[in-house]
Amino acid sequence: MDDCIFCKIYQKKLPSTIVYEDDDLFAFEDINPIDKVHFLIIPKKHIISLIECNSDHQEILSKMLLLAPKLAKDAGLKGFRTMINSGKEGGQEVFHIHFHVYGGSENLAKL
Ligand code: AMP
Ligand code: ZN
Repeated sequence: MDDCIFCKIYQKKLPSTIVYEDDDLFAFEDINPIDKVHFLIIPKKHIISLIECNSDHQEILSKMLLLAPKLAKDAGLKGFRTMINSGKEGGQEVFHIHFHVYGGSENLAKL
């Protein structure tokens, strides 16, 4: 997608602080962190949102999910929160699917 900010980030046409990269996935620090550690995991494929996903996306979604604890542990977190805002009404602002992974503060907000 030509005008997608996250496509540009994984293609390194825009700068980011890279946390992880492989053939399928890319992770980078959130530019506006809400905790001591806060990064985003994205696929290197333009998928708009979890709302758009179906069984065709099973493999990439499970890869994304399983990367979260690995990178969280690498970042020194003993526990973390994962958030997936889905759709405008779900608070999604960037329409390239991403998993927020954050933690590190003493008190996570109670849900
Ligand atoms: P969401 O509301 O779930 O779509 O979250 C989008 C996230 O992307 C927000 O937490 C932003 O701070 C983050 N973000 C937007 N632009 C950038 C960027 N250029 N580099 C890193 N994070 C970004
Ligand atoms: Zn994209």
